[in-house]
Amino acid sequence: MIEKVLIANRGEIALRVIRTCNALGIKTVAVYSDEDYNSLHVKKADESYHIGEAAPAKSYLNQEKILDVMLSSGTDAVHPGYGFLSENDDFARLCEKNKINFIGPSADSMNLCGDKMECKAAMLKAKVPTVPGSPGLVKDADEAEKIANDIGYPVLLKSVYGGGGRGIRLVTNDKELREGFETVTSESISAVGKSAIIVEKFLEKTRHIEYQMCRDHHGNAVHLFERECSIQRRNQKLIEQTPSPVVDASKREEIGELVVRAAEAVDYTNLGTAEFLRADNGEFYFIEINARLQVEHPISEMVSGLDFVKLQIDIANGEPLPFKQKDLKMNGYAIECRINAEDTFLDFAPSTGPVPDVTIPAGPNVRCDTYLYSGCTVSPFYDSLMAKLCTWGPTFEESRTRMLTALNDMYVQGVETSIPLYKTILNSEEYKKGELSTDFLKRYDMINRLTEDLKKEKEEKSEAALAAAIIHSEYFKSRVQNSDANSTSWKHKLD
Ligand code: ADP
Ligand code: ADP
Ligand code: MG
Repeated sequence: MIEKVLIANRGEIALRVIRTCNALGIKTVAVYSDEDYNSLHVKKADESYHIGEAAPAKSYLNQEKILDVMLSSGTDAVHPGYGFLSENDDFARLCEKNKINFIGPSADSMNLCGDKMECKAAMLKAKVPTVPGSPGLVKDADEAEKIANDIGYPVLLKSVYGGGGRGIRLVTNDKELREGFETVTSESISAVGKSAIIVEKFLEKTRHIEYQMCRDHHGNAVHLFERECSIQRRNQKLIEQTPSPVVDASKREEIGELVVRAAEAVDYTNLGTAEFLRADNGEFYFIEINARLQVEHPISEMVSGLDFVKLQIDIANGEPLPFKQKDLKMNGYAIECRINAEDTFLDFAPSTGPVPDVTIPAGPNVRCDTYLYSGCTVSPFYDSLMAKLCTWGPTFEESRTRMLTALNDMYVQGVETSIPLYKTILNSEEYKKGELSTDFLKRYDMINRLTEDLKKEKEEKSEAALAAAIIHSEYFKSRVQNSDANSTSWKHKLD
């Protein structure tokens, strides 16, 4: 049984894992870089160990160093969070070798999931539909060009080792394909030291719909419903919601069955996510498996009533799933906004630095997972995600309006945030009607609409301030006149 967990991560996800461990009476060990000396996860864990310099390669990606800490602190399990080492099968194998319980899938399964080509091949075998494309890796630009002409432009060049929206290039003709091939190759080499490329048909006006999958060590598998993550920038998610407006109960079951099959096909254990694209004609195509806890897992927790980290720990302990598919009910509607430290108007460039003051939203059915506190710093070394703001409601509309209230409540001093953009999106008719697609921002000209909204807001604010000033001056005038009449201390009364 797991008694002491090292969290090989930082930020909000490290705090998220520590909370569940606390609730379960499991001891926690944090690790931190030079940059994170004052971070909350360091203060909240039972023990904390410094592991190196700010650059991830020197700390959060340093497998040997993290293993040293686990062995010397008597840790029996590791939770990798997301990002960093979470999908690194070498690390999972290193843990297996050292009898540390890696809270996630086996190293072999992770290795298979981490290779988009191998994984697609396994899905084809299991009769899970995948996006049409090259039958295998393309060895050079010539071969890629031939395939692109066969399946027809536009196509995507994808590094099989890509992730987090990186290593993907849309090309619409032979010339772009040749340039794109070079870029994806060099990006992939600089990110992971190797490159392998597949060609995929680019599906237009698609929705990103993913399923939470869950499988124990005894072969029991379920899905924990879908999440729609179509609102993205640069192929990275910004806003997620569950249920998806285009998935009804029978579709949920139909795709859910595919998902269980997908988990079995790669012998997946623990929690993971099967990502699909839904074409405009309603067809679903598998794209990849994320072999870890997903950033957006809180919205699925909200509609399922489960604690996913607890579920992960139970599965890692070898316990059988405590439910069957038919026991699981989806309740209500949940939305997540990823509050990023970035400047929407500078092409989402990171915005970093000290945060002297923050206000974290609260209220019924509002959840905010964050590392922020007044006086903290947003570091340029790590991901721009500062907080995950989630709301729940018995109807979609209640969840949406609650989110707008929460977005209005939230305040992060010192850095630019994606909050204003989210208000524009959540107020738009297209969002309200669920007309979502992965090109939502461009399709509906959201950045220009944000500019308009900000202008309007400024005007309204100055009008309101002017109105308040006039009322005040009338009030003062009347007080002054009264005081002239009976010359008592009107000023004192005002105080
Ligand atoms: P999803 O989990 O929905 O696929 P992402 O792909 O955006 O969403 O999440 C994984 C990405 O998160 C990684 O590729 C990395 O850029 C980023 N990331 C890694 N570590 C952290 C961290 N500790 N906190 C926030 N973001 C991180
Ligand atoms: P990553 O590993 O970076 O998450 P994915 O393969 O999951 O890469 O794709 C990320 C995003 O890129 C998707 O959510 C979608 O917006 C877009 N995308 C990926 N494949 C396709 C495709 N074949 N056609 C259209 N869009 C795609
Ligand atoms: Mg993905």
